[in-house]
Amino acid sequence: MQNNSYNPFETAQKQFDRAADMLDLKQATRDLLRTPIREFHFSIPIRMDDGLMKVFRGYRVQHNDARGPAKGGIRFHPQETIDTVRALAMWMTWKTSVADIPLGGGKGGIICDPHNLSQNEQENLCRGWIRQVYKNVGPNIDVPAPDVMTSPQHMLWMLDEFETIRGEKLPGAITGKPVGMGGSLGRTEATGYGVIITLREALKELNITPADTTASVQGFGNVSQYAIELYEQLGGKVICVSSWDQDDQASYSFKKKEGVNLDELRSIANPFGGIDKQKAMDLGYEILSGDAWLEQEVDILIPAALENQITANNVEKMNKRVKIIAEGANGPTTPDADKVINNRDIFVLPDFLANAGGVTCSYFEQVQSNMNYFWDKEDVLSRLDTKMTAAFISVSDFAKLHKLKMRDAAYVISVNRVAQACEDRGWV
Ligand code: NAD
Repeated sequence: MQNNSYNPFETAQKQFDRAADMLDLKQATRDLLRTPIREFHFSIPIRMDDGLMKVFRGYRVQHNDARGPAKGGIRFHPQETIDTVRALAMWMTWKTSVADIPLGGGKGGIICDPHNLSQNEQENLCRGWIRQVYKNVGPNIDVPAPDVMTSPQHMLWMLDEFETIRGEKLPGAITGKPVGMGGSLGRTEATGYGVIITLREALKELNITPADTTASVQGFGNVSQYAIELYEQLGGKVICVSSWDQDDQASYSFKKKEGVNLDELRSIANPFGGIDKQKAMDLGYEILSGDAWLEQEVDILIPAALENQITANNVEKMNKRVKIIAEGANGPTTPDADKVINNRDIFVLPDFLANAGGVTCSYFEQVQSNMNYFWDKEDVLSRLDTKMTAAFISVSDFAKLHKLKMRDAAYVISVNRVAQACEDRGWV
């Protein structure tokens, strides 16, 4: 959404075409999987706090549900586009497939900037979104969840509206709910932790001790913060973090050579993961340009902000020391930048594998909600570790066996599973 010169849906389609060629998929399968199976575009009229009505644009895209109900987040973002939602829905299909959970792929969004909306207006938007799609989502159809700038509170408002309309309790209809209101323990940590579980396995494979490594991270939201937390627990050191500055409408990188202090940064970040520049400066952080996170002399890069962040325009700025890129965000690397990265023989943990921890835990939440029986946090996190490690190993083994890059191997495995499900159902 931040970089308008790349269309994420075109990126997603190019990635799919590459996998389809490798798998030699037949034309009908390509036609089915290259575009979403269903799309909903709608207007959401809201009464604003000043009494005036305002109309917002909302979307829900279901890319594929051959392996189970569609699953995917809902974003609030001023630059949201239908093509971003389509790309994210497609990536969700591959993500649930590579993690081998019985769900499909979907995504939704509302074009809005929650920075400029009161709590009341945000609640109205959540309820309005559900009123437009309640017939097309649900525990056995399509299960929404939070994403960029949406929170457990937003999910609870959505669930409440859904249950009110349906006249029954259906907690498995939405995940990412607050703990105690149908949410799963461990969900908040799951995506960031999952990124680091796959990173831990990659380091093991490359014979690198985590404590000997340093990292630089783009973004300081949910994914980034918990990735940093677990990476530090493994002994790694993060020296640079970037975030978006709402006032300046620009991003900055915050650097401390001796290692950033996670709690300190959390204490000076707003709820949207924006780090306060002045306070950071007072705490001794160097304030650098938005791209500086990419230029750091580190072993590991973790893009964990938005799509299209490592592009042909900035990939050459990447430091020669970088050995691993763990993609926390969805679609952070454009295909042209990916070529440069592959030529440099950097080990890439592709987004839909690395950040599959979120949807894996969402699946756990759905299972727990449907059963109305909830597991303790250790139980959730250990199941997450088992699932993520298994997903990593299956992709890595396949990559080695067929001499493929990790992204290609992950694509081939996941597209093949979905194609097979479509075929088995007689759809193609
Ligand atoms: P978030 O809204 O909590 O945080 C986003 C962070 O990115 C914020 O710190 C923001 O300041 C920063 N940011 C935004 N634009 C930036 C820019 N141009 N440069 C630098 N920083 C910028 O979002 P999140 O939930 O952490 O999600 C981050 C990414 O991970 C997204 O691509 C999302 O789709 C993906 N993802 C999230 C989850 C999840 O469970 N939250 C799961 C899978 C994938």
